[in-house]
Amino acid sequence: MAKCHVCFRHCMIEEGGIGFCGARTVKNGEVVAMNYGKVSGLALDPIEKKPLNNFFPGSYILSVGSFGCNLRCPFCQNHDISWSKEARIYAEDAERVSPKELVKAALDTRDRGNIGIAFTYNEPLVGYEFVRDSAVLAKEHGLKTVLVSNGTAELSVLDEIVSYIDAMNIDVKGFTDEYYDKVLGGSRKQVMEFIEEAVRHCHVELTTLIIPGENDSEEEMRELSGWVKEIELTNGKNIPLHITRFFPRFKMTDRDATDVRKVYRLAEVAREKLEIVYTGNC
Ligand code: SF4
Repeated sequence: MAKCHVCFRHCMIEEGGIGFCGARTVKNGEVVAMNYGKVSGLALDPIEKKPLNNFFPGSYILSVGSFGCNLRCPFCQNHDISWSKEARIYAEDAERVSPKELVKAALDTRDRGNIGIAFTYNEPLVGYEFVRDSAVLAKEHGLKTVLVSNGTAELSVLDEIVSYIDAMNIDVKGFTDEYYDKVLGGSRKQVMEFIEEAVRHCHVELTTLIIPGENDSEEEMRELSGWVKEIELTNGKNIPLHITRFFPRFKMTDRDATDVRKVYRLAEVAREKLEIVYTGNC
């Protein structure tokens, strides 16, 4: 039995067992990432798709995903690689890619506008060792590195990777403990601490997906944007906020897509405090 220290769950995992995220196991008494180098998707995406609008706009980035997630968002858009039953089966059959092979693929696509590597699609930090090893190598070759994360990781994990990451998009999925706890199976406190620290080191943009009836009040957006403003003031930099529209999918099909007028209204509310606010999926 060994304890995983990657996120707030601190899973106790038996030898050969699997942690809550489906990505970590125990081998010879040590917790290791069983998804190391296992690739679920590899694509050359526009940087704006991460979404990052204020980091090398107009460029492309080689985006790589693996398997597993430490949250349980019922509306997950990537459930086939995150936390559905299929994800486990799919992960077993996936091929492994080494950091060296990934960096070579990134270098080979530079002539198509690629600036580097983005770790994305599933939650990259449940397998942070692959992110770290690949990012170290990528930086040695002059590539840019991007992390797209739910921010649910200990600061010790952030500390291991942050010197090698140029930009992050981090979810702030809502701004109440209840929503994080009961709907997402997460910890708002851990996400807030992660973001506050990440902003000190690299370019950060944030994303909030608006779910009807869950996190769509003006009051909550005022609190969220007020907190972001405080971080901006502390660090002397703007933090772009992406407010995006929900569509029913996976286990959350009991409600309609977010009314676009609601998304625009919440963006107006956020702009009362913040300079850079984008709307998405509208
Ligand atoms: S990263 Fe995975 S195994 Fe580790 S504590 Fe979090 S959910 Fe558990």
